[in-house]
Amino acid sequence: MTSSLVARSLAHIWHPCTQMQRAAQVPPLPIVRGQGVWLFDEDGKRYFDTISSWWVNLFGHADARINAAIKDQLDTLPHVMLAGCTHAPAVELAERLSALTGGVLGHCFFASDGASAVEIALKMAFHHWRNRGLGDKRGFVCLRQGYHGETLGALAVTDVQIFRDAYDPLLLRSHQVMSPDARQARPGESAQDVALRAAAELQALLQAQHGQIAALILEPLVQGAAGMAMYHPAYLQAARALCDQYQVLLIADEIAVGCGRTGTFFAVEQAGIWPDLLCLSKGISGGYLPLSLVLSRDSVYEAFLDDDVARGFLHSHSYTGNALACRAALAVLDRFDQDGVLAHNRLQAATLSAALAPLQADPRVENFRHLGMVWAFDVKDPGPRFADRFHLAGRARELLIRPIGRTVYLLPPYLLDDTLSPWLAHQVMATLDDVLRQEIPDADRPPEPPTA
Ligand SMILES: *Cc1c(COP(=O)(O)O)cnc(C)c1O
Repeated sequence: MTSSLVARSLAHIWHPCTQMQRAAQVPPLPIVRGQGVWLFDEDGKRYFDTISSWWVNLFGHADARINAAIKDQLDTLPHVMLAGCTHAPAVELAERLSALTGGVLGHCFFASDGASAVEIALKMAFHHWRNRGLGDKRGFVCLRQGYHGETLGALAVTDVQIFRDAYDPLLLRSHQVMSPDARQARPGESAQDVALRAAAELQALLQAQHGQIAALILEPLVQGAAGMAMYHPAYLQAARALCDQYQVLLIADEIAVGCGRTGTFFAVEQAGIWPDLLCLSKGISGGYLPLSLVLSRDSVYEAFLDDDVARGFLHSHSYTGNALACRAALAVLDRFDQDGVLAHNRLQAATLSAALAPLQADPRVENFRHLGMVWAFDVKDPGPRFADRFHLAGRARELLIRPIGRTVYLLPPYLLDDTLSPWLAHQVMATLDDVLRQEIPDADRPPEPPTA
């Protein structure tokens, strides 16, 4: 029976990333409460949030310390515009994030959603070259399988067909180069070899066209929306060197991989490099409030300083630097400082990896991969509507889990412990068994090929 909340939702909410004609077959879960890794529905049934509510929720739902910080801020100053005014939570957040880059990325530009941070980084890169007398540098390079959000500028540097194809006629042309995705290894090739092969393709493009190219944008180490494609840090080192050689800015989109997700606070740390612009969002506010930001090198920032107002970066969003969101982010950074989050995650990741080990030898599965707090594997013969079927079977086993195509992934909150990790691994493997044993409904079967 459909709950009244679900029925009202379907009657009036146009749900994101959803074919609404099919929404009744996979009705939204009516969630009424969250606590830690658990979400609870109207009937009191619980679901482990295995994907951190679209990768945002770092320390669980309704975390006591983040709640307290936001409540305190709510009674002090919920919001004030950031042009012509400033406030302590934004200042402190900018200072602390810059310090986490060793001062290399010295300024912080605030926005609200991930896609708006990407738009800002693209505009900044172009405008910075224009201010330096190099206005021909207006092209962008992105990686195949890359994802940077769904506004028009961000989609122009995104290569996930299902999100992009319908809007292709509207988009700026960008240059797409080979992804370093380690799954493309040829026989005898290592992940590092794939990275270097991809870097060679980048080099060829930059060599030929750098005079027209403003920036390279990429997701460091894990291409999330493409299905958790992972790659070797050697690619980032090569990309940094090539960008320096050819006067191209490097934009690191750490919206998904930042905030400890890959095992270091910033994913680029694993390559020992810094980009020129770095985008953060999703986890930075702990999954509480929309907040995004772009950290920039001083050399980029300084290119905008001038007596002429129009050479400044005149971009803004109404809720830029919202005080409640910044305060939530400060509470998130406090957790990293006070709780040894990265060390805790390393230990717990080892436990979960060990519990998932049977998948590595499972003949139904390929490309089992893991980095930091991300696990993924591809199902060989998924059958029709695999992602929906897996998601529904997951619900029956107390999981909120949403495969991407035939890729099942886990991106859990940083709250795993010695009980949760083995339980989670067991439920995921049991769900896989359930789904692969399922009879495919006739309606979902591809039509029989005609007999001659
Ligand atoms: C989610 C995501 C974005 C877009 O963020 P929104 O808040 O959804 O606009 C951009 N880049 C990456 C890598 C992301 O994962």
